Amino acid sequence: MSLQERDQKHLWHPLTQHKLHPKHLAIKSAKGALLFDEDGKSYIDGIASWYTCMYGHCHPYIIQKVTEQLGKLDQVVFSGFTHEPAVEMSEKLMKILPQNQQKIFFSDNGSTSVDVAIKMSLQYHFNQGEKRAKIIALEDAFHGDTFGAMSVSGLSVYNGPFEDFLLTIDRIDVPTKENFETVKAQFISFLKTGEVAAFIFEPLVQGAAAMKMYDAKLLDELIAIAKDYNVLAIADEVMTGFGKTGKYFASDYLENKPDILCLSKSLTGGVVPMALTTCTHKVYDAFYADEIGKGFFHGHTYSANPLGCTAISAGIDLLVSEEMQANIKRIELSHQGFNEKIKAHPKVKTTRQIGVIFALELAVEMDRYGNLRDELFAYFMKNGVCLRPLGNTIYILPPFVISDAELQKIYEVIENWL
Ligand SMILES: *Cc1c(COP(=O)(O)O)cnc(C)c1O
Repeated sequence: MSLQERDQKHLWHPLTQHKLHPKHLAIKSAKGALLFDEDGKSYIDGIASWYTCMYGHCHPYIIQKVTEQLGKLDQVVFSGFTHEPAVEMSEKLMKILPQNQQKIFFSDNGSTSVDVAIKMSLQYHFNQGEKRAKIIALEDAFHGDTFGAMSVSGLSVYNGPFEDFLLTIDRIDVPTKENFETVKAQFISFLKTGEVAAFIFEPLVQGAAAMKMYDAKLLDELIAIAKDYNVLAIADEVMTGFGKTGKYFASDYLENKPDILCLSKSLTGGVVPMALTTCTHKVYDAFYADEIGKGFFHGHTYSANPLGCTAISAGIDLLVSEEMQANIKRIELSHQGFNEKIKAHPKVKTTRQIGVIFALELAVEMDRYGNLRDELFAYFMKNGVCLRPLGNTIYILPPFVISDAELQKIYEVIENWL
């Protein structure tokens, strides 16, 4: 029996209605920008396996570092203990994070990094004698699938069964030049109640909303206003972090730096699941007290797993290297070239780009998980390109190491379909 057949007996896949989609493609191996299935067919990983493997699959440098670490220390409790991979990682990360970020808290995935940020914000105010119970979030946001993260997410078509159990959220539209005065007025009216603990957003790019992009200046102004009301700004950089927008972090485009950052996905270069919630000294200081209860009593068993920390350090070494920075520039330029060629196509409604992220909205109506979307996905896969359209948007977010020829092949397959 093939892996695909054996899979169907016991495995339950994420975001899947198994009755409609029983089959899952078995991938045997991966290298650089390529995935290989059990029949030996290759696919260009045009979305870096959900924005994780940005330095390419099975990068020899990351593998070497993690393998060396595996023989030294596999795992140890991070309450009461510490270790070299965690310390070294913290020093490396501080060199690239926005400078106001000073403290690093561990968890295991993007959703938990958001839950940690939310709990941190609620307790930040609680510890100072204020009960603030609300969070402001953006329409169409996606922050993950655990309860806190699901609450702040606006893409809630499938959250029906849980809606009665979510946190209290005030929601504003994504700011645009046209709606900004209205959005700002609503934002301020929420802040004025004194009940808001935090303002959470995906800076500059809303990934799951089909790579919707918005202006850094407008976000900057909202953050500045939030600060006036002592409301913490949480940047969910789970998708945007580590070079994808052309800078190390999307927050690098902002004058007013967020108080808290959520990081995961390409944090470890896709090697191990891990996540970080980083914060300023001001946030940390609200927990620093003689009373035990003012501490942050949240902890995951695998916090700061040494292999994960080692992978993060290795990933940062690669990210800051001249070679990787040149790759990012190269992809940016290449996307710009493709954009010039494709933007006037009659089937293209709009295009958008920042850094290595390129999105093309089709002038066609399409359900988020509908038939046309499935056909489109199948067409790309048949032609050896792995792209997962979101509704009527096709987007490319390739590993930085993708070759020019591989990029051209992606563009060609898209063009042919059009
Ligand atoms: C993917 C994602 C998450 C959730 O991360 P998981 O690791 O899937 O839990 C949260 N926020 C953003 C912006 C994401 O892209």
